[in-house]
Amino acid sequence: MKPSLLSTGLALALFLTGAGAALASPQISAPAGGSLRVESARLTPAAGGSYVSGKVESSSGYAAPSTPHVHVSAYDSRGRLLAENDDKLNRDSLVRSHLQPTPHASYVVFLAENPANIARITVLVHGGHAAPR
Ligand SMILES: [Zn+2]
Repeated sequence: MKPSLLSTGLALALFLTGAGAALASPQISAPAGGSLRVESARLTPAAGGSYVSGKVESSSGYAAPSTPHVHVSAYDSRGRLLAENDDKLNRDSLVRSHLQPTPHASYVVFLAENPANIARITVLVHGGHAAPR
């Protein structure tokens, strides 16, 4: 695998400003560039952990990258990694057509971490290297 393929990704940092209601609508910070963009992300408490779900938008036009997927990482307030997980994206959903002029794909990952402990979530979306497990 070439390192340059990894750099085609787009990092997205979600800063969860505090606890409680803020968890349901985290602030999204997205750097410019890349053909895949995280459009939304949401942290939902679940039994034994948390779900992070949202949508990815493609701006690449008529060709979606191979094996598109997201890597989701959760950190505590001191920047320590708490949990991470991946989800594959439906490649067909990211191809533009006359039926879907703005293609989107959904993702959802489970993190085995209490949402009260999570201070920050990072969603990295890219394709071009082998799909996660
Ligand atoms: Zn990856």
